[in-house]
Amino acid sequence: MHTIKLESVGRKSGGRIHLTPRVPRSGPVTTLCGQTLGEGSYAAVDSEPDCANCIRRSKDRARISGAFFAQEEGSELLRLSLEQAREKKPNLRVLPQPGSSREKPVVWPAAKPPPEAIPDQLGELVTRGFKPSGEGVWRSPQGAIVRMRKHGKEWRFDELVFEGSVVATRTPGGVRIKAGDVEVTQSDHGFEVQLKKK
Ligand SMILES: [Zn+2]
Repeated sequence: MHTIKLESVGRKSGGRIHLTPRVPRSGPVTTLCGQTLGEGSYAAVDSEPDCANCIRRSKDRARISGAFFAQEEGSELLRLSLEQAREKKPNLRVLPQPGSSREKPVVWPAAKPPPEAIPDQLGELVTRGFKPSGEGVWRSPQGAIVRMRKHGKEWRFDELVFEGSVVATRTPGGVRIKAGDVEVTQSDHGFEVQLKKK
């Protein structure tokens, strides 16, 4: 099972320290105990939570999943559960049934997640136009291969492989690499990988 990390959040005016899936940069935040703290009224804190309801609910996986789905992390959780489902492929062996040799055996196809289950963004990768090619590996239409690596629950850019024209340009945030139809842009926060805009 995946360990889901929760973050501590408290009102700037003081009071209890609550838990939430992620403290957003802006907008309101909903705590595990169901309180909504308005934009600007709260701050992420390092200290341990001391809200009894939040602590109790942090042990309830279903409750946490619900809280994640209420925020943007829902699609990421959905993808993780799809990945787990894919690993548990049904066994395709068909056992001969005595006395029914004329009947054709039923072969169940392996469960495949529908293609629309791929979120538009997976961490630092904008997936639009990429074809999944194994765990964390994506292929562009021109054949550039992007490898993403999991850091906690976040996918981060790891490697770009392309045989062809590559241009690296210095930018205020670091460097931008254009390899075929793929663009990797560095910023203060990390990288963004996407297909070149036409
Ligand atoms: Zn609370």
